[in-house]
Amino acid sequence: MAIDATFSFPIKNRRLPVDFRCLMQQGVYCGSRNPLRIIPISETSGGTAFLQVNIGCRHNQCIFCNFYKDVRFREKSEAIILRDIDTLAEYFMNQEYSQISRLMLLDADGLDIGHDQLLHILEYARSKFPVSDATNDYVTGYDEKYEQFFEHLQSAGCRALEFSSFTHTDTIISKGVAQMRELKTLGLDFIWWGLESADVELLKLIRKTRNNHADSDNEQRKLYQAAGILEKADIFYVPIILVGLGGERFFRQHVTRTIAFLEHIMPPGFSLSDLVVPDGTGYQRLIQKGSLDLLSAARLSEQRQLFENMNITSPQFDYEV
Ligand code: SF4
Repeated sequence: MAIDATFSFPIKNRRLPVDFRCLMQQGVYCGSRNPLRIIPISETSGGTAFLQVNIGCRHNQCIFCNFYKDVRFREKSEAIILRDIDTLAEYFMNQEYSQISRLMLLDADGLDIGHDQLLHILEYARSKFPVSDATNDYVTGYDEKYEQFFEHLQSAGCRALEFSSFTHTDTIISKGVAQMRELKTLGLDFIWWGLESADVELLKLIRKTRNNHADSDNEQRKLYQAAGILEKADIFYVPIILVGLGGERFFRQHVTRTIAFLEHIMPPGFSLSDLVVPDGTGYQRLIQKGSLDLLSAARLSEQRQLFENMNITSPQFDYEV
């Protein structure tokens, strides 16, 4: 789902524009003046709020994607992020204590910020969205209204706040097992992994790999390494596969290499998203030059079927742009 309405959020006087209020009421929150670009459907079904921890996409090179082409990547100051958490907590507290059980960290890669800063953000958010599990470690430092909020949630049997995020293979690797475990301890329990394909040749063509001149075998190893890190950190992760990526030219190898990879790593879940090629992208130019094509509806459905018939038992998660 793409929410591309522009809106502003005058935090100082706490007046929310109508559009933003509407988004907030749907459980959608961005915490900045930037629009939300892409959200998995299962994160919009209630219980999830959205917190922008950086702006745009640091990589911003994938030739099929224009989500952040007009956005200069910026880190956000921790003070602003914490202020957004306060605002968000206050908003939901005022919504008759609507239960929020998860914050999804945005934008393109919500883990792509300094580790200590990320830990502090998760910790702070947990302190502002009180928890109610039996071993609650976070019931400290609330002011009176948050105490009341907590008591209400506790009586409703709520769990500790959890976190989800999109992330990139290289971010997972840069964090490593130890840091991922720390994040898991503080509630990061769901990762949308923007894998797209496990065919490295295709990943290089679409510029998903951060270094297009990198050794292909090494890039392949990195995919397994990233999966191993998430596995060892015990984080539920969902690789997102782009159905139709590479067209007819890559049909066979995209399917066989990606399925072989997924059947090997056995992810806890997976997600299939049909390729959409926006105007003006590098991918569209390759189509115009005849280097790539788009699959027909029948071939797209055939490829989707092949992925759905993979020999893995993991559930499929809805995802749509
Ligand atoms: S697909 Fe993801 S990593 Fe690639 S440019 Fe788009 S937002 Fe960035």
